[in-house]
Amino acid sequence: MIFRPQILLSILLLAGVSVRAADHLSNPLADAPNWKSLEKFQKTIGHDEFERLLRGVYCTHGIGENLIRIDPEAACILMDRDAQSWFRLRFAASAAKSVTVPRWWRPARALPPSKKRGPLSGLKIALDPGHIGGAWARMEERWYKSGEGQPVEEGEMTLRVAKMLGEKLRSLGARVSFVREKAEPVTPYRPDNFRETARAILRAGGVANPAEEFQGPDDPLKEQTVRWESEILFYRTSEIRERARRVNLILRPDVVLCLHFNAEAWGDERNPTLTDKNHLHLLVNGSYLPDELESDDVRFEMLRRLLSRNFDEEIRIADAAALALAKKSGLPPYEYTKDIVTKVGTSGYVYARNLGATRLFQCPVVYFEPYVMNSVDVFARVQAGDYEGTRIVNGIERPSIYREYVDGVVEGLVEYYGGGRK
Ligand SMILES: [Zn+2]
Repeated sequence: MIFRPQILLSILLLAGVSVRAADHLSNPLADAPNWKSLEKFQKTIGHDEFERLLRGVYCTHGIGENLIRIDPEAACILMDRDAQSWFRLRFAASAAKSVTVPRWWRPARALPPSKKRGPLSGLKIALDPGHIGGAWARMEERWYKSGEGQPVEEGEMTLRVAKMLGEKLRSLGARVSFVREKAEPVTPYRPDNFRETARAILRAGGVANPAEEFQGPDDPLKEQTVRWESEILFYRTSEIRERARRVNLILRPDVVLCLHFNAEAWGDERNPTLTDKNHLHLLVNGSYLPDELESDDVRFEMLRRLLSRNFDEEIRIADAAALALAKKSGLPPYEYTKDIVTKVGTSGYVYARNLGATRLFQCPVVYFEPYVMNSVDVFARVQAGDYEGTRIVNGIERPSIYREYVDGVVEGLVEYYGGGRK
């Protein structure tokens, strides 16, 4: 379908934020839930399995019976709080053995058994290099420059990892696609398209006459300006939704790998704080917060993930990739200081968390957060760039940070998909 931004945008503006609030959606760009599309999941999951995933993965911070109620025969999910209409999902009988789950991606055990063309043959992988980078890196606050060094920008580094990784995965037989291929947005919109929406969001949040501009990243009032709000709508909300459309409608892979580098707060981008902290963690979708589940779109999207049985596949991929990356990099697991995640799996490095990308992509998603970009060590390694073999960088002989990242991910995938097939 040809995308016509102007028409879509005027619909968006007509709908307005106040109408959206009455719809109980999480943000002005959210899609209204299509509850009928869940009909295909009738009798595809048993009561115990549903309960295990709901309580152990997706709603680990609790969920009220005013939103989801589990009866012996069915789960009842609130669709519309004003009309008090409920979606009734009937459970499969506990005796039912092989229920086919309706979905377009394939778990490892459903891939063709032939491994002649490499351990990943037949596997469709989409690589999603985090952020936009390039001319957008500073707007995204994913850019810093320390002393006379080269700028460190996440969107450029993730793209570099994706390109190197893609080549390796292809040589092992995988069919690789890219959610983003250059340092440009995937979304056709730009911040100016969202200024009206931004104004409406700020007004709804109690800022009666929001200022248009802010004075640089350290301006304490920046979050109350039209520019800041419209930029977030552009590079985060709209960009992630457009990437999800690409994944779900065009690429349709068996797994998406979201590639990022982590960071600790660095303050001034031109005089950043460098830290000794350096760590690794991976994310899969889950651990929705009670507030988030109040939004109709989020509750619906959570359920769509649960019923597609994404978790059981992605946790195995994530655990394998985490252990391989940990071995290559020697990094310790990151420990969250806020109670917004749930540790899952067996590696000690994987958390469930509700992120836009992991929620909206309708197939297994593994989200990588290795390396603290503004650690002393990673800064030195980024300055060293990519190189063959090993070199002494910051006093340690080792491969380039990019090759180490790529090799860890590849080893984890080969370990899982090589051994996980029938
Ligand atoms: Zn990132």
